[in-house]
Amino acid sequence: MVNEIQKKGKTFYQCGECKFIYLTKELAEKCENWCRENNSCNLDIIKQAVEIDKEK
Ligand SMILES: [Zn+2]
Repeated sequence: MVNEIQKKGKTFYQCGECKFIYLTKELAEKCENWCRENNSCNLDIIKQAVEIDKEK
């Protein structure tokens, strides 16, 4: 299940499997489908993940 995260007035989308966060729901769903089917992460997808907790 992709989680929506509200942060600094923006919406981010988190893969429910690996917890990586994306700017678009499409990417998060793509990641989640991959994670669920392959039980691993797709590097081509997670390199597009964003880190929102590092910003202060
Ligand atoms: Zn994932």
